[in-house]
Parts: sequence; structure tokens; C-alpha cells
Amino acid sequence: MNSKPRIGVYPGTFDPVTRGHLDIISRATRVVDRLILGVAINEDKGPLFTLDERVAMLEEELKNLNNHDGSAIEVKPFDNLLTQFATSVGASVVIRGLRAVSDFEFEFQMVGMNSRLAPEVETVFLMAADKYQFISSRLVKEIGRLGGDVGEFVSPAVKSHLDKRFKRK
Ligand code: ADP
Repeated sequence: MNSKPRIGVYPGTFDPVTRGHLDIISRATRVVDRLILGVAINEDKGPLFTLDERVAMLEEELKNLNNHDGSAIEVKPFDNLLTQFATSVGASVVIRGLRAVSDFEFEFQMVGMNSRLAPEVETVFLMAADKYQFISSRLVKEIGRLGGDVGEFVSPAVKSHLDKRFKRK
């Protein structure tokens, strides 16, 4: 039997982290022994929160995440290729969340390309619980910006960061 701990990378922009992401994180810890949350810098996506803010929010959320198997979870920013990042941290698994068919096309292409760049790294898709499947950071930001209540989609801490960003207390 192979006793080497299995390391996984869950990459994303996490702008900001949602309850959908947290559900995937909990599920991922059942698949790998160590999970690295790779925060993509993604400046060209024009993130609402800076890299440091996104990392800090994720770290804060991890403190309250209790339904994981005691697996170590770490947050690391990256701005190189995902396959290079995964290899550099010794990961053999990349975790992605799948929402609807709309995610499929893009993910399909990405797995195809990544498996050529790093054939030793396997991509594993997980689905969030029904009630979280429709959540996306993009819509959370839009709802927040227009003054809607995002409390169902993000934690109270993230909600208050959004309120501050959109200048509501
Ligand atoms: P990206 O910028 O790559 O879309 P995100 O931060 O939006 O990164 O998401 C990171 C990962 O989490 C992606 O695999 C995305 O599909 C997944 N994800 C985001 N929200 C959900 C959700 N509600 N349910 C399942 N997976 C999700």
C-alpha cells in the first residue's frame, strides 16, 4: 500500500469565497490528505478584492470550517500555470467544483490541456450540495453591488466585507 499522503490543489479566484466553495472544500478533504487552496492572482479578471484580502477571507473561513477530517488545509496564492503550481507543491490531484452544464465545456478543455502538460496530475470534479450549486462569486458581487442580501450565499464575515466594499454598514 502507498502511504504517501495525497496532496490536492483546489484552485480558484475566490473573489470572494462563497458557501459553494466551502462545501467543495469540505468534500475535497475526504478525497485528499492535504488540501492546498490555490488563490489565483487573476488581475486581468479585475477582482473586487485584492489577493491579500481574498487570502485573508479564506483563512478566516477555514477557522470555522469544522466538518473536515482534520486534514491540513493551507491557502497559497499562485500566478503561474496551474499544472506548474500543482507540481511545485507535490499535488497529484486538482479539485474542481462543477455546477451546471455551463461549467462543463470550459472544464473539459482545461482537463484536456492540463493532462497533456502534467499527465501525472489527475483532475477530480466534485459537486456541491443542491442548495449551494447555483452560487457564484460573480452573482454574489452583482447582488451585493445592487444592494441585495447575500447572507444566504456567503458567511457573515464575507457579507460584511462586501457591505464595506460597497459602502454599506
Ligand atoms: P474561477 O475563477 O476559476 O471560476 P472560482 O473562484 O469562481 O474560480 O471557483 C473555483 C472553483 O470552484 C471552480 O472549479 C468552480 O467551478 C468551483 N465553484 C464555485 N462555486 C461553486 C458552487 N457553488 N458549487 C460548486 N463548485 C463551485
